[in-house]
Amino acid sequence: MNIHEYQGKDLLRKYGVAVPNGKVAFSVEEAVEAAKELGTEVSVVKAQIHAGGRGKAGGVKVAKNLDEVREYANEILGKTLVTHQTGPEGKEVKRLLIEEGCDIKKEYYVGLVLDRETSKVVMMASEEGGTEIEEVAEKTPEKIFREYIDPAVGMQAFQARRLAFNINIPKEQLGQAVKFMLGLYQVFVEKDCSIAEINPLVTTGDGGVMALDAKLNFDSNALYRQKDIVEYRDLDEEDLKEIEASKHDLSYIALDGNIGCMVNGAGLAMATMDIIKHYHGDPANFLDVGGGATAEKVTEAFKIILSDEQVKGIYVNIFGGIMKCDIIADGVVEATKQIGLEIPLVVRLEGTNVERGKEILKESGLNITAADSMADGAQKIVSLVK
Ligand code: ADP
Ligand code: MG
Repeated sequence: MNIHEYQGKDLLRKYGVAVPNGKVAFSVEEAVEAAKELGTEVSVVKAQIHAGGRGKAGGVKVAKNLDEVREYANEILGKTLVTHQTGPEGKEVKRLLIEEGCDIKKEYYVGLVLDRETSKVVMMASEEGGTEIEEVAEKTPEKIFREYIDPAVGMQAFQARRLAFNINIPKEQLGQAVKFMLGLYQVFVEKDCSIAEINPLVTTGDGGVMALDAKLNFDSNALYRQKDIVEYRDLDEEDLKEIEASKHDLSYIALDGNIGCMVNGAGLAMATMDIIKHYHGDPANFLDVGGGATAEKVTEAFKIILSDEQVKGIYVNIFGGIMKCDIIADGVVEATKQIGLEIPLVVRLEGTNVERGKEILKESGLNITAADSMADGAQKIVSLVK
């Protein structure tokens, strides 16, 4: 789960990680009011969307007085920002962060992720802050330093010191940088983050060290024990179909293609996407209805797929083990009864109660193309949507 920059900064503040003062605003008036309250000479108007690259896209503006705050707030609120992370459709800005202007001396990068190879959290840092870290990794990989953290003892001060030293933080600010890194690590671990990225971390004219940007992502599987993080969820930023799916406890991820997939089991779902690609088709989603799905759940899943306007055909690929084929068939029939079916549907059923399942589909009178195997089904749906 993703949160906004201002929420991330609130969280960091609680852990003693230095961030500029700022306030969220939902309207131009609130933005001006927030700037007044901050009372700083310069303030920064920042678009709050769940994507980076806002600066380059015109979503971060430095205002020298209240009139400029009004002007920029007016300009950015309601605007659809297109950044390298939003995709071409962009994201509409509905919130702003009004923040005190910072006298930046130098920009750095600090990030935490889980390294799956070593099964450890790794802190990465670079003196090439402000730019995209992917670009640094590609062009000047020697400028990224890493510290792998032993989960048994947590991040050690010497590791933070070594990182801060490697990225050339001036020695007067080393102590602050170490405190910053240790605090960031603590947030990451205690709050079950999957990413904590500070780009840029800055040193300031008056000798400070602080986070000017904050990107925090959280492991969805840990949200049951992070109730305060769930409060930060902004449904406006999420895919409607994914929200609907999460309500019904379905594993669903929307993709760019036009073939809707309904599959049971994450492995089979991945394999189904692969085989559709193999036959030059494009899956519209990943969907695992799970093992013990009820007909109601299958109905909801099917409805979610059908609600996607990009979907030009559906491939149901079920291997009935715990999941019974007749339940899947019931769900498909029920969903199409409720909202109709005008696009091709290919069904491949195998396993428990397969005969009953096939009968149900046949009796339904729906226009269904039966498939003999997974590959056969994939080929059929790909040619039907063309
Ligand atoms: P994004 O990564 O989405 O472009 P950032 O929050 O990193 O957004 O802002 C982009 C740039 O704007 C920063 O690299 C920094 O130079 C500048 N900036 C951001 N916040 C402030 C601030 N409070 N004061 C001064 N400059 C800022
Ligand atoms: Mg940034």
